[in-house]
Amino acid sequence: MNDILPDATGTWRYLESVVSNIVQSYGYAEIRLPLLEQTELFRRSIGEVTDIVEKEMYTFLDRNGESLTLRPEATAGIVRAGITNGLLYNQKQKLWTAGPMFRYEKPQKGRYRQFNQFDVEALGYTGPDADAELIIMSARIWQRLGISRLVLEINSLGSPESRGHYREALVKYFSGVKNQLDKDSIRRLEQNPLRILDSKNPDMQAIVAAAPVMLDFLDAESDEHFQQLKALLDVAGVDFTINPRLVRGLDYYNRTVFEWVTDALGSQGAVCSGGRYDGLVEKLGGQATPAVGWAMGFERLVALFAASGGSAPIENVDVYLVAVGDQAITRAFAIAEQLRDSIAGIRVELNLGGGSFKSQLKRADKSNADYALILGEQEVAAARIGLKPLRSNEDQSSIALNELAATLAEKLGKVADL
Ligand code: ATP
Ligand code: MG
Repeated sequence: MNDILPDATGTWRYLESVVSNIVQSYGYAEIRLPLLEQTELFRRSIGEVTDIVEKEMYTFLDRNGESLTLRPEATAGIVRAGITNGLLYNQKQKLWTAGPMFRYEKPQKGRYRQFNQFDVEALGYTGPDADAELIIMSARIWQRLGISRLVLEINSLGSPESRGHYREALVKYFSGVKNQLDKDSIRRLEQNPLRILDSKNPDMQAIVAAAPVMLDFLDAESDEHFQQLKALLDVAGVDFTINPRLVRGLDYYNRTVFEWVTDALGSQGAVCSGGRYDGLVEKLGGQATPAVGWAMGFERLVALFAASGGSAPIENVDVYLVAVGDQAITRAFAIAEQLRDSIAGIRVELNLGGGSFKSQLKRADKSNADYALILGEQEVAAARIGLKPLRSNEDQSSIALNELAATLAEKLGKVADL
């Protein structure tokens, strides 16, 4: 669980604003959800026999003996909130949410126990146009951020019925190589053979690679859905590869699944993953509602943005106000507030804690402000203030206090409302 320190939060806030502005521009609205849900919600939605539910959840009993879990992902909570607030009854919803998720995993670069996701969900949409738009929207995010080292992998998991046939074929195949399976996979063979395909054990990769693939079992309607999705992505110019092994680590998916992966971050290469989950709302007690969504790992986005040479706009203060002497300090408060009143967007840092001119100017320099404003007893008496450029060789000048806002606004290229 990481602390995100002040030298990093500027980039986080920048990326959060870029991503949220883009999804808002497609008509998605924000929903904010609790971090805790009843454990049962995740068991039923993600699936009993999955890594998340079996090994990764932070689960505890509250004072009332009720089992609660820190959310490991956002989709289940969104569906729960949609049902309990009546948002899904005969309605469509395009929603986004962002915030921390919790999984008890082995921490390593790009894999943490508290991590952040940006999550979007389109509920009530059955056609491949919704799947396509969600993917196109994610492609726009990469483009806007100058990120290019990502490839899109897609697959279809078909309908529950066709998945049933596929399941049989998998059980048959894996039973034939049972002596080569690891413990987890043997256990999953009976309960949830698809999960074997999601195994992270390197020793299992060859066996998994030779397993039957779902695309050979697709029902006609899912096949049509998949063809249309591919055609829409082609028209939009979004490149993709078909990965017939892509099953995703959660049980609720059907038809479309996809993942944006990069080779720029070492082994934790999945940056944004999602898919369709047409059965989940009904399974959790709502009216049958088709749905599709994705979640982006924000730590991985931050790392990939940096690896792509991206940087957030600098957020230094514009001016640092130096004041020496009791009268000057009192006056400086009023001057700082006046500047904040009269120059839209100006960032003014007032020196706190006193100090000599020299020590205050050192702090001004450290603040990375463009200008220091300097106020001593002499300046107060003359109703003037010193203006010292900190990032250029221009000389220090003296300005009448009643002209300060206009002068500063012009120098900073900001609008003064005098
Ligand atoms: P992985 O295969 O890396 O474990 P996942 O399939 O478990 O990923 P999802 O549940 O689909 O991941 O979550 C969506 C996104 O959240 C992932 O694509 C990834 O970017 C990010 N993510 C998942 N788990 C973590 C984690 N423990 N730490 C940081 N980011 C994570
Ligand atoms: Mg995982």
